[in-house]
Amino acid sequence: MNGDGTSWGGLPAVSQTLYPVRNRTHPLPPVDTHMLPYGLGRSYGDSCLNHMGTLLTTDQLDRWISFDPASGVLHCEAGVSLAQILELVVPKGWFLPVTPGTRHVTLGGAIANDVHGKNHHRAGTFGRYVREIELLRSDGSRTQCSRTRNARWLRATIGGLGLTGLITTVKLQLRPIVSRNMEVEEIKMTGLKQFFDLADASDPTHEYTVAWVDCLATGAQLGRGIFFRANHSETPSSLNSDRTRSFSVPMRAPNWLLNPISIQGFNALYRNKLRTDCHLATQDYRPFFYPLDRVENWNRLYGKRGFYQHQCVVPRDGHEGAIQELLERIGRSGQASFLAVLKLFGDHPPEGLLSFPRPGVTLALDFPNRGESTLKLFRELDDVVMQAGGALYPAKDARMSSDHFRQFTPALDTFLPYVDPAFSSSFHRRVLTPS
Ligand SMILES: Cc1cc2nc3c(=O)[nH]c(=O)nc-3n(C[C@H](O)[C@H](O)[C@H](O)COP(=O)(O)OP(=O)(O)OC[C@H]3O[C@@H](n4cnc5c(N)ncnc54)[C@H](O)[C@@H]3O)c2cc1C
Repeated sequence: MNGDGTSWGGLPAVSQTLYPVRNRTHPLPPVDTHMLPYGLGRSYGDSCLNHMGTLLTTDQLDRWISFDPASGVLHCEAGVSLAQILELVVPKGWFLPVTPGTRHVTLGGAIANDVHGKNHHRAGTFGRYVREIELLRSDGSRTQCSRTRNARWLRATIGGLGLTGLITTVKLQLRPIVSRNMEVEEIKMTGLKQFFDLADASDPTHEYTVAWVDCLATGAQLGRGIFFRANHSETPSSLNSDRTRSFSVPMRAPNWLLNPISIQGFNALYRNKLRTDCHLATQDYRPFFYPLDRVENWNRLYGKRGFYQHQCVVPRDGHEGAIQELLERIGRSGQASFLAVLKLFGDHPPEGLLSFPRPGVTLALDFPNRGESTLKLFRELDDVVMQAGGALYPAKDARMSSDHFRQFTPALDTFLPYVDPAFSSSFHRRVLTPS
């Protein structure tokens, strides 16, 4: 776990002071420093970092307050992680309403980035299920925010990148389940058109959909990969059993380990793991939602130079459009992405003023840091996203320009008055300083 003041991509290096928040009544430090809440550092870039400032670490802000097994409303401190919640509530027949691709994130982090999951087309984002939060500001004030009390503060804090204050406690609405199993279908995709056809056909029938794309494929094979769709099993079964094992990457790998040739090999193996065009399986929820959590510290595979993630959303324009162009440019660049994930977002309006998810298609890519050649490719991808009227995800970003951020964030001026004057982040200063 990297609850230690670093970010998941290992970029950039920063110097900051850690200030542990020991429980929900703990005061904030004096206002002679700029401060930022910190969860488990699962954001990839600098939105969870505060160079030359103070990080309010929340690993000790992890107490349960109450859980109502009849309504599924959980009340706890904001440093509790999604993994801890699942351990408590799955045996009682409840599940997270929305979950990102790792369970090692805190409630505070999930709210501050208004995270999305494979069910966005049905459920929208995490923030939609937040019933109430307590917000602690640098002047010592504590405000209860819900849809009926201080609703504007709730809207600014959902997706608010930790800048409106420290969330100390959260009331979250969970969803019921009768089994910890998922009914999963994996379907070989021959290209981008098939992705859109499958996503459209699956939206009404499957709660969870997502696709892995082989981004080294070009020409007629552009967009080939595997489409995953799933529902919670409706066959009642034990909610307790868990045989999922994980292992850990012990140290940073050499920088050359993930290169186009090794990634090509991985992609071929991964694509060919499906012996038939369509594979049906009943599996535990953990390997379905959190395949990467099985390899603890997998980010170390990228070596000391770290890696960048590029996640965008572009409006759906009726055909493959901008997504095709993004994949073509990546193919031409010869730079390989180890993880390339496509997902159709639903039409839910943004839950928070700065929420990233909006109607359209999202593409997420990881690239080893190869210096200027990686940054040049990213600038090209940014231009495609901008021309398509899309946006980049701040939780995954370590280098978007100030101009781009402003264009991707239509409600920025409405949001800024809610920023706590003593709160700031490396991301915040970078994107709000004109380039
Ligand atoms: C393998 C992997 C898969 C992922 N998959 C997805 C995905 O599918 N969908 C998705 O949306 N994201 C995804 N993410 C990103 C991740 O969900 C977000 O970055 C999340 O916000 C990280 O939470 P954290 O607790 O680690 O917070 P941090 O990364 O430490 O902080 C994130 C933000 O939350 C703020 N914050 C933290 N705690 C508080 C608090 N108590 N009060 C106020 N603000 C606070 C911080 O200031 C910062 O701005 C993934 C990340 C990884 C590593």
